[in-house]
Amino acid sequence: MSQLTELTITQALALLQSREISSIELTEAYLDRIGKFESQIKAFITLTPELALQQAQAADKLRQNNSDYQLPALLGLPIAIKDVLAIKDIRCTCGSRILEDFVPPYTATTVQRLLDAGVVVLGKTNTDEFAMGSSTENSAYQTTHNPWNLEHVPGGSSGGSAAAVTSHFAPVALGSDTGGSVRQPASFCGISGLKPTYGRVSRYGLIAYGSSLDSVGIFAHTAEEIALIFQHIAGRDPRDATSMEIPVPSISLSENTSLVGMRIGVPKEYFISGIQPEVDAAVRSAVSQMEALGAEIVEISLPHTEYALPVYYLIATAEASANLARYDGMRYGYSAESATLWQRFKDTRGSGFGSEVKRRIMLGTYALSAGYYNAYYGQAQKVRTLIKRDFEQAYEKVDAIATPVAPTTAFKIGEHTNDPLAMYLEDIFTLPTNLAGVPGLAFPVGFDNQGLPVGMQLMGPHFKEESLLKLVHAYQLSTSWHKVLPDL
Ligand code: GLN
Repeated sequence: MSQLTELTITQALALLQSREISSIELTEAYLDRIGKFESQIKAFITLTPELALQQAQAADKLRQNNSDYQLPALLGLPIAIKDVLAIKDIRCTCGSRILEDFVPPYTATTVQRLLDAGVVVLGKTNTDEFAMGSSTENSAYQTTHNPWNLEHVPGGSSGGSAAAVTSHFAPVALGSDTGGSVRQPASFCGISGLKPTYGRVSRYGLIAYGSSLDSVGIFAHTAEEIALIFQHIAGRDPRDATSMEIPVPSISLSENTSLVGMRIGVPKEYFISGIQPEVDAAVRSAVSQMEALGAEIVEISLPHTEYALPVYYLIATAEASANLARYDGMRYGYSAESATLWQRFKDTRGSGFGSEVKRRIMLGTYALSAGYYNAYYGQAQKVRTLIKRDFEQAYEKVDAIATPVAPTTAFKIGEHTNDPLAMYLEDIFTLPTNLAGVPGLAFPVGFDNQGLPVGMQLMGPHFKEESLLKLVHAYQLSTSWHKVLPDL
């Protein structure tokens, strides 16, 4: 039974289709594995085994009674969902005490589209509180452990989803990425993770952190599997005014590994001193591999890169301070029992939010305050435009940009908890993508000398997820980093 959990999505769907396995068997195999190892990993905040078995049974029944062409494409495939995406009637905590008992009355569009395609939901995965963090240590419930080394973090904020896929608790998982929260944990866990273009995937039902930066992303072992899921969740949604009416290509990935005709830019601002030498070496060697496959490698410059971190932490916190104003104890979730209304607001927010969330709300409120608005928020928006232009200019010359995902491999649990700035620096290479709204794909390219995975990021022009997936698919056909798995 345990090998069932090691099937790729394509293999699992083929076996389901040929009726060699049932969705119940597949789902039970994942639930068994979760039962065995979840106490070490702590990937899930909420497990939904009854629901999963119910959905699996329904999937099997549907398959029994219909011919293949009538069946939804992902029928019977198990999946894990980050606990910031709403699913009707399943509690959604966002990793926060303030939403401990919150049960949403509606389902996120991304999840709904996957449900319509037939998936089985195994549970809701751990996250830093309101997706603020890079390690899952800011979750009010638990810290997720890195499956490669339990003393290390899995990255964050979607660390639960990344650890779940890495541990073979689920073949695929959804996460969210506001500044790197899909790509950085994918990199720390040695799997692949896509942050789509802003506007490509609906944010309806994704509980808001920084609305101009947030996007729903996908974790799987390979680009091929991500491509399959991406096509189901992408596309215009009338419920998200920022989602775009741009057709989603049907992505077919060939067995051809040639990258002839592709130009890959290597920005000098992303290969700086301070990067862990093994990260630098593994990423450079992956770039050479792409060159060997026929790509032309071009040195480029993204000159405003150094401003991305301060700009992000002004814009993200400003938007967060506005988005999180709704948690006042009157409408959603936790409400303190206090004598006066004013005291109730204070107590609800004072004890409902954790310290990182409070820090962000204070920073954001300050950046937006009347006397400082122009100096901070207004200025940050201007510099954001310059960062966006850097990318536009680069994409006149290249098809994709190659960088490390993070300056280091997975750090130890507790290593950065008392140093917010050190934690913020983990996202230095991923957050420019969110500021510019362009897509980014992280994938494994090696290991450091402690045996921890190293990830590389390819960024592409707006709405060019397909070319990133093709590039990484070609790389993965010619290498095997994505096949090396941790021993639990
Ligand atoms: N670590 C970054 C932050 O804390 C990014 C988080 C994310 O992408 N959700 O804001």
